[in-house]
Amino acid sequence: MNNYIGVIVDSEAVSLDRVFTYKVPESLKSDIKLGQIVKVPFGMGNKKVNGFILEFIDEINESIKIKEVSSIVTDYSVITAKDIDLILKMKKRYFCSYIDCIKLMIPTGITKGVGHKTSSVVCIRGELVEKLKKKPYTDIYEVVGEYNGVYTKSELNREFKFSLSSINTMIKHEVLKIVEKVVSRCDNKVFDSYEEKVLNRKQADVVNSILSSNARKFLIHGVTGSGKTEIYMYLVKKMIEQGKESIILVPEISLTPQMVERFKGRFGNDVSVFHSKLSDGERYDEWLRVKNGEVRVAVGARSAIFLPFSNLGLIVIDEEHEGSYKSESDPKYSAVEIGEMKSEIEGCKLVLGSATPSIDTYYKCTNKEYKLLSISERADGASMPDISVVDMREELKENNKSIFSRKLYKAIEETLEKKEQIILFLNRRGFSTFVSCRKCGLVFKCKNCDVPLTYHNDKKYLICHYCGSTEEIPKICPKCGSKYVKYFGVGTERVEREVKKIFSSARVLRMDKDTTGKKNSYELIYNSFKNGGADILIGTQMIAKGFDFKEVTLVGIVAADLTLNIPDYRAAERTFQLVSQVSGRAGRGNKKGRVIIQTYTPESYAIKYSSQNDYESFYKTEIMLREGMNYPPFSKIFIVNMSSKNESLLIKYTQIVGNFLKNNFAVYDNIDILGPCPSPIGKINEFYRWQIILKGEVTYDMANFIKKSIYEILKKDYNVIRISIDINPLSLL
Ligand code: ADP
Ligand code: ZN
Ligand code: ZN
Repeated sequence: MNNYIGVIVDSEAVSLDRVFTYKVPESLKSDIKLGQIVKVPFGMGNKKVNGFILEFIDEINESIKIKEVSSIVTDYSVITAKDIDLILKMKKRYFCSYIDCIKLMIPTGITKGVGHKTSSVVCIRGELVEKLKKKPYTDIYEVVGEYNGVYTKSELNREFKFSLSSINTMIKHEVLKIVEKVVSRCDNKVFDSYEEKVLNRKQADVVNSILSSNARKFLIHGVTGSGKTEIYMYLVKKMIEQGKESIILVPEISLTPQMVERFKGRFGNDVSVFHSKLSDGERYDEWLRVKNGEVRVAVGARSAIFLPFSNLGLIVIDEEHEGSYKSESDPKYSAVEIGEMKSEIEGCKLVLGSATPSIDTYYKCTNKEYKLLSISERADGASMPDISVVDMREELKENNKSIFSRKLYKAIEETLEKKEQIILFLNRRGFSTFVSCRKCGLVFKCKNCDVPLTYHNDKKYLICHYCGSTEEIPKICPKCGSKYVKYFGVGTERVEREVKKIFSSARVLRMDKDTTGKKNSYELIYNSFKNGGADILIGTQMIAKGFDFKEVTLVGIVAADLTLNIPDYRAAERTFQLVSQVSGRAGRGNKKGRVIIQTYTPESYAIKYSSQNDYESFYKTEIMLREGMNYPPFSKIFIVNMSSKNESLLIKYTQIVGNFLKNNFAVYDNIDILGPCPSPIGKINEFYRWQIILKGEVTYDMANFIKKSIYEILKKDYNVIRISIDINPLSLL
């Protein structure tokens, strides 16, 4: 028993990503535990490094010399047996290293020795306190009794009028003593209580289905304002009654003060909140509170899915369709997939919620992998806004070349007159270099892949980044013969300039990456608009979510086509989600809201169905197209992205990797190999970027094999060529 252990060493080196065996010395046998951190001698020099105990081994063939564990670092298990199960699943799914997985599960700093925060306090002998209050200290006093009064130095100064030098004298005479005390860095601010609501019929049905069903995985498809948050809270309450814990994930951007107030106001000190602004120390303390069973609920962004609860009953993932649940650095995990793995390992319920579920998740409902629960009315009786679509081609015909249609122009004017607020939305992050005809709306697409061709400014041609085929930019539109063939390029700054020119008396705020760079700038803009400090807010997706401004009665989507024409098979899905979300910002109060969507392609089903609030019809169209083109969920997209400052070396290696893939996988007729070709964003920070895509029935075993082989191929130039591998990545740019 416990004779040997398998250890993962704390190192990022790819070659060290395996289990190393160590002998447990007799003296440590009784204290050694799975998941503990130990010090082990490593390498030629036997340098002492941290290791995580992954397994126990009884007997091994001792013909090779086995080194001994040096010491125990943590007396408790930082990861549990269930965590180890999860790590093994993650390794297979994300082709990542053990250590990368472990680091998601423990707070940064734990291996660097970050621990409790302590601060010096002064203890004073209890019997002396009253005497000292009456009379300053002289050595008359008999020095007896326990040190049980605890003060900071400034408190001593305030209450007893001790100077620093008399404090030092008293320490010398053992009247006072300095001790180190653990202080908590957790946020223990008290919040106003957030009263429980009586669930309406629809909400109660959903709760009952989840609690009484044998199924484990659920999707709540509920329109914005249908009372999903109240449902989550009710489920959490039920879990607490059963002695179980809950994790609530929300997108980082929705982790607003309002969300925190609701949960802290309902569950008080039972809640831990995890957001990206916590310091290492605060994170460590919150983590330890979870580990020690001091909290019942955690609310947090993506990585909170890994928190070390011991009796997890419920995982909720709100706005499950959100891209931010997928990590873009190794391990490139998706919190929804981790939720699925955990619900299996822990036997807990997984509840996803969204007004616009991802196609993948909805498909899983039709497959009975998830149980679907729908709510189509708002909980507080508010009505949905009126949505209209404006065809910008008609505007051009009428010689209106401005970025505002006549309808949006008039609506802005009217809303300003009524002194109500306006949001103008523009998705600039969307890839804006597609080429289209302004007269008929034709977008130039790849014939093989049905994704928009990308305009490459440096080379002046169009390229499909899925399959690499290229085309010249036509001078006239092949469909209608017009000369208005242009690439799209309008940003928030331009909109701001136009608004200020046309509506010169309006007060305007802009919220995007450029205006929110400084600390607190986001809050400043948010609060200013909320308090009526501006009439018009112009912004990117930052303003699409969670904003609940009662005075906003008009939302204008300036150019819906920007999202629709990103070169990605999910462009329609993203457009549908974004239009629905932005629309949801209008008419949150008791005044009716309206939404105006400007587009060159009003016939697009994403725009048509989002303007009709018709998710089911959108889903039906989209899933048919995905099946037809063999895109996920009917296949996997496996992407190898290679980048380097050395362009010729990069191209050489992408060709070698490309040939390797063709030699090994061209025989499979259910797998297409696309590329190698330059990535749509061909260069970032001086790094050239190329990619190869495998589309089809790529298995995780294949992916692991490919990853290993590519590392072999790159061995010699491993430090000049960067490589990133992913299945179904968030972005294909
Ligand atoms: P969602 O999360 O689905 O967008 P919320 O939970 O934020 O919706 O609820 C929308 C609004 O409806 C909130 O103001 C909330 O307080 C209110 N609400 C939710 N459930 C009820 C209920 N059962 N009775 C009355 N109001 C409710
Ligand atoms: Zn045309
Ligand atoms: Zn193509």
